[in-house]
Amino acid sequence: MNIAVAGCAGRMGRMLIRAAAEAEGARLSGGLCAPGSPALGADLAGLAGLAGSAAGVSASDDAEAVFKAADAVCDFTTPEVTAALAALAAKTGTALVTGTTGLSAAHQAAVEQAAQKIPVVQAANYSLGVNVLLGLAERAAAALGPDYDIEVSEAHHRRKVDAPSGTALALGAALAKGRGIDLAAMSERARDGVTGPRKPGAIGFAVTRAGDIVGEHTVMLAGPKERVILGHAAADRQTFADGAVQAALWTQARAPGLYSMRDVLGLD
Ligand code: NAD
Repeated sequence: MNIAVAGCAGRMGRMLIRAAAEAEGARLSGGLCAPGSPALGADLAGLAGLAGSAAGVSASDDAEAVFKAADAVCDFTTPEVTAALAALAAKTGTALVTGTTGLSAAHQAAVEQAAQKIPVVQAANYSLGVNVLLGLAERAAAALGPDYDIEVSEAHHRRKVDAPSGTALALGAALAKGRGIDLAAMSERARDGVTGPRKPGAIGFAVTRAGDIVGEHTVMLAGPKERVILGHAAADRQTFADGAVQAALWTQARAPGLYSMRDVLGLD
């Protein structure tokens, strides 16, 4: 299966090159970089720091050519680029696996529109562990009930641009589903100054940005006399890239639609 990487010069993009080059059944068919990027024309193997022979494919800024040559594209870029690439994928009939976070409602609508024509896998986190955690969080929220206050905290590296992380919001959505409440109405994203007592039933979010933390998430359900704490720590970004390439392989011969990593892993 021909797999290309959009955002191939980025932190995740370089990991995706490695994952696509090494996965059984995958052939690295292209890499898309930003127009005028210093990576333009660089061999993808060199870009990803892979020792040994060259990939024989270089970074390109011709999005249409990259999409046409691929069966699936793994996209870890920015929300604006993801929305544009979703429309392009629908046009070229290329499956899309997107991990970009921080999408606005308009960006998300573009992804959902594309999913009417092609298979799209979208996940805020492609690791097996986090996808298992999403299920555990939903079950815990359902079993423990409204007497247990829910707080989600996350920590990421200093260069991350969106907050709370897509994974923290996905955990919030899973917890809200378990509790049968609307996340948008019940989430408390920031607390500062004299905030008054905790809003009953709220789902709170706390954010840390520091150093080179790959990604850490904790869910706390705090009851009157006990606390349940569930968590995940990613030790290496490669886990997300390997999961995304697994998702790309999974799209082969799949009907159009919007799928999650939990669908890919068969967890639902
Ligand atoms: P990054 O800034 O290192 O990489 C983004 C890359 O996209 C950059 O190289 C940039 O030049 C490139 N880009 C910009 N415009 C482009 C265009 N028009 N065409 C092609 N490439 C273009 O960021 P990152 O740390 O790799 O993260 C990227 C995204 O992935 C973020 O939204 C992040 O939150 C998300 N992410 C998701 C997961 C997951 O498992 N879902 C894991 C890690 C990061």
